Amino acid sequence: METGKHVDFTTNYQQLIKQQQKTAWWLAGGLMLFVMGVGVSSKVLPAIILGVVGLLLIFILHQHYTRKYHQRLLLIGKPFPDNWHRFLKDNAAFYANLNPAQKQQFQTRVQFFLAEKKIEGIDTAINDEVRLLVAASAIIPTFAFPYYDYSNLRQVLLYPNSFDHAFSTETAPGKDRNIAGMVGNDFLNGTLLLSKPDLIAGFKGKNPNNVGIHEFVHLLDMADGAVDGLPEIFLAHSYAVPWLQVMKAEVRNIRKGKSDINPYSLTNNAEFLAVVSEYFFDNPEKMEAAHPELYKYLCTIFHQNPA
Ligand SMILES: [Zn+2]
Repeated sequence: METGKHVDFTTNYQQLIKQQQKTAWWLAGGLMLFVMGVGVSSKVLPAIILGVVGLLLIFILHQHYTRKYHQRLLLIGKPFPDNWHRFLKDNAAFYANLNPAQKQQFQTRVQFFLAEKKIEGIDTAINDEVRLLVAASAIIPTFAFPYYDYSNLRQVLLYPNSFDHAFSTETAPGKDRNIAGMVGNDFLNGTLLLSKPDLIAGFKGKNPNNVGIHEFVHLLDMADGAVDGLPEIFLAHSYAVPWLQVMKAEVRNIRKGKSDINPYSLTNNAEFLAVVSEYFFDNPEKMEAAHPELYKYLCTIFHQNPA
């Protein structure tokens, strides 16, 4: 874990607001000069209209671009419910292992996430605990990137059980019902779908499967435009080729039955990354011992050393 980095959300968002204010003032100043130019050339009324409309537009845009930062500043001061803290400590080993300052940072990001992303149950009731597990799944893989906020995600939909490709959760003969989560595309752009029971099961004990983390890693992978097992937002270009080599070596071991990594990872590079990330965050000590090279690369990708 990177502990040396000081994270100050308040200063960060105050500075971002200040930057936006500066831009707004420059725009307003430029507009006024232009309006005065038009006014001097004797078109007084159009100049006034232009000035008023322009200033209004600058004001609206400024509000639009700073709303999120203002909302976050308010959330930073909001106390984190004690039962949420206890639930996270009991259910997410990652959170339990953080030091007090890191826990606070985690809590702040939970508040941001829950305030900004829609989390809804489809034919299933969801409570704060389920919402906390969704937020934890999002924050764990990006913990070393405190300002990362999944701009490519709008909502998370939770289903009563695993589903098939048509999002049907009905049990019918011959239906493939084994999908525990997926990143939506086309009309479900910006949507993540998760099976509620699978999400909960993923956080129980040292479960090797964690569908929450799995799907959020797909989202990270996809943030650069390609779901290819190379999360370019995190992984420096120079690491891409060695990472692919480490991946290939492990794939050979899995094929020979010489690895404890879920063979679902053989599907493609994107699934490989998502599957080994579940292992990495759920059972880092075991992974470091069993797959030191792979473990090292995941530390590089996520900028974390959870073991
Ligand atoms: Zn997957």
